[in-house]
Amino acid sequence: MRYFPLFADLRERRVLVVGGGEVAVRKVRLLREAGARVEVVAREFDEPGLAAWIAREFDEPQLDGATLVVAATDDRTLNGRVAAAARARGVLCNVVDDASLSGFIVPAIVDRSPLVIAISSGGAAPVLARLLRERIESLLDESVGALARLLDSWRGRIRQALPAVGERRRFYEQAVRGRVAALVRGRRHAEAARELERMLVSPSPSRGSVVLVGAGPGDPGLLTLNALRALQEADVVLHDRLVSDEVLALARRDATRIPVGKAARAHSVPQERINELMVEHARAGRRVVRLKGGDPFVFGRGGEELEALARHGIEFEVVPGITAALACGAYAGVPLTHRSHAQSLRLVTAHCTDSAEGLDWASLAGGRQTLALYMGVAAMATAGERLMAHGLGANTPVAIVERGSRPDQRVTLARLDELGEVALHGDVQSPALLIVGEVASLAGALHWYGERPRHWQSLRRVA
Ligand code: SAH
Repeated sequence: MRYFPLFADLRERRVLVVGGGEVAVRKVRLLREAGARVEVVAREFDEPGLAAWIAREFDEPQLDGATLVVAATDDRTLNGRVAAAARARGVLCNVVDDASLSGFIVPAIVDRSPLVIAISSGGAAPVLARLLRERIESLLDESVGALARLLDSWRGRIRQALPAVGERRRFYEQAVRGRVAALVRGRRHAEAARELERMLVSPSPSRGSVVLVGAGPGDPGLLTLNALRALQEADVVLHDRLVSDEVLALARRDATRIPVGKAARAHSVPQERINELMVEHARAGRRVVRLKGGDPFVFGRGGEELEALARHGIEFEVVPGITAALACGAYAGVPLTHRSHAQSLRLVTAHCTDSAEGLDWASLAGGRQTLALYMGVAAMATAGERLMAHGLGANTPVAIVERGSRPDQRVTLARLDELGEVALHGDVQSPALLIVGEVASLAGALHWYGERPRHWQSLRRVA
């Protein structure tokens, strides 16, 4: 090991920073956050209010009584002089971006104080260290710091109640993985403290819980960080058919994956059974992720599932996802609202001709709005007819987005009066979303993803 890792207590200690530009200011900030008494030597200091500006020129006696020194000027010779003087006095010196001159180097950090993770490549590959930092950053949510603070404030009591080291370790493990962590994540600090109390008084196996997670439309890049974390902590993943393989691959490797998808016509697991499975696994103490395409609260029965969990007293969290309308709009180059075309957006579902009957077509046919129709492809022709019957123009543009955001996304552009024909001859496959409204006409000009959109009229002319 080339460098000795350590965390230094700099409170009330003198640290000299030579240099006053952007880089120096960043170091001064960080040192101040750690409580150091920072003094700056610089010809120009970008933020003179930040620390004591003691001199314009470096002079060796300035090092007297300094615990550390940072050389952050753009003058290599001067940096070298500072480093040599520091070495001669036994003061550790960091020369920014020059490990060879440095007595200590500063790691990349993930700050979830009091929890701090420091990463260093020993100056060999700072970019790699930063990449690693980004990954770790995305895996630890902000609540980790609060959890560490909570446990710290209980340390005395826990030590008293559980004198044996092994017992204590098991207690902490249960706390950081289980319900206490979930409560802190949900900003329910008082309940988290009560749960710790309960665990101390009557230790019982940890209860499981369910996280209802929106998996987005398919592209794994559209998952939220919270969704990714939930997947990586899961013991069991109950997933829909709409969830892409790429998203599923991000679940913890040892997690049990249970498909409960509802494919039209095909064999599927009834809703009651899905509810039972969630309850059973959670009762057995497992961390269950219920993974749904798009957003769980948009045409996803997420509400019903949570009602079932609430009835059985199972704890839950919800992680929203990118719903199909937002993803299809973005990936098809169709802005769902636009100052010149549409001032409102309506999300509507019509799975079949029957469910289409229940909709208020008169209001859906109003102008200056965009309709996103989530539906079984089966209701496409009916939707077109109803909208025209209620006065929406026959030439209103429609974008039909199949497999939105997936590598094989296909976009078909048609007019409202052509929907019947597209339904019959267009070979439109589920999942597909219809975007009806003037904005759909922008799909040609704003195309950026996948295949170019096909225009139904020009297809017809060729045929
Ligand atoms: N909860 C989901 C919607 C479930 S309903 C969400 O928020 O997106 C299922 C319907 O969503 C499909 O019939 C289709 O209309 C739409 N859909 C879901 N994913 C899609 C995708 N990748 N491309 C196009 N439409 C999609």
